[in-house]
Amino acid sequence: MLNKKSVDDIQAAGKRVLVRCDFNVPLKDGKITDENRLVAALPTIKKLIADGAKVILCSHLGKPKGEPKPELSLAPVAARLTELLGQEVKFAADAEVVGANAKAAVEAMKNGEEFSKDLASLCDIFVNDAFGTAHRAHCSNVGVSSLVDTAVVGYLMQKEIDFLGNAVENPERPFVAILGGAKVADKLSVINNLLEKCDTLIIGGGMAYTFLKAKGYEVGESLVDDEKIDYCKEMMEKAEKLGKKLLLPVDSTIAAAFPSPIDAEIEVESVPSNAIPADKMGLDIGPKTAELFASEVKSAKTVVWNGPMGVFENPILAKGTIAVAKSLAETDATTIIGGGDSAAAVNTLGFGDKMSHISTGGGASLEFLEGKELPGVAAANDK
Ligand code: AMP
Repeated sequence: MLNKKSVDDIQAAGKRVLVRCDFNVPLKDGKITDENRLVAALPTIKKLIADGAKVILCSHLGKPKGEPKPELSLAPVAARLTELLGQEVKFAADAEVVGANAKAAVEAMKNGEEFSKDLASLCDIFVNDAFGTAHRAHCSNVGVSSLVDTAVVGYLMQKEIDFLGNAVENPERPFVAILGGAKVADKLSVINNLLEKCDTLIIGGGMAYTFLKAKGYEVGESLVDDEKIDYCKEMMEKAEKLGKKLLLPVDSTIAAAFPSPIDAEIEVESVPSNAIPADKMGLDIGPKTAELFASEVKSAKTVVWNGPMGVFENPILAKGTIAVAKSLAETDATTIIGGGDSAAAVNTLGFGDKMSHISTGGGASLEFLEGKELPGVAAANDK
């Protein structure tokens, strides 16, 4: 075996680190059509960021043959990396590979190490109680933790880890996971991971229509991510193979158009999921589905919920979300609400104190449910 030093063997804190990546991704009309290479590069990039390095990324893209070609710019890569990393990746546009812009951008890079040191100089012991940022490696969590002798978690962080961790790793069964919200693409890893851990996975909200289309249903003008249809098929097959229940809406509340403004009066009707007219869109789960989901919650011992069942900002389209919230409020099961919209919905409906735990972290709770290690948590000392 080759015995080469790796990023694990260097002291990168405060240093300028140039990383030669392979970001040669397929592009169509300026959009990345396969981001495998970006995702595969993340561990190294994240490690260097966590170490407090000034990270400079470079790559080729396509075959420019020595000439700058705008259609082969790495700008879309920088934009997508910004999303994947949750922090800005600046794109240095220059006519040459190392031009004035690249040099100036490196010059201007802040020294994370210094900020971390400043923070660490204030204390003898560091307590991290910010779960909402635990999925990001920042100076004020990971950086400072690495520079003090004692870095521990606070009670809120502990509570979040206990509830979410137990639910995913050691749930009292049956364990029902409910996912909703707009897009399948935002929750690919959550669906995949929860399917393995739960007994029943319930899918509502806008993301359900990509699943329904994958089943061959007409979904009309409903929100659909055509690129994720195969993924949905895969997940349905996976559920079957694992013997897990995967519940989709059996009926939908539909309208002719998305309400504008979002809380506008809107004319709706409810139809079976396989009978959505081609010129209508599904904007909430229907009443039969609300009943089906609620009865599944009733027989559960652990319930995790993330994402609304419909366009809950509109009272006429909030009925499915309210029904699910109510079913969680009425059960004795352990009920855990992932942050974001579902937390807001539960609180505004007045069901907040009926839940076992409402997470304070939207992105962080999602990453937890994806089974990822949160850098802000990992940075604390082990017992
Ligand atoms: P997310 O940010 O993914 O949790 O999604 C929340 C948003 O999804 C809310 O603003 C809802 O209005 C929206 N949403 C839920 N169901 C639907 C639907 N059937 N069609 C369009 N948007 C929806």
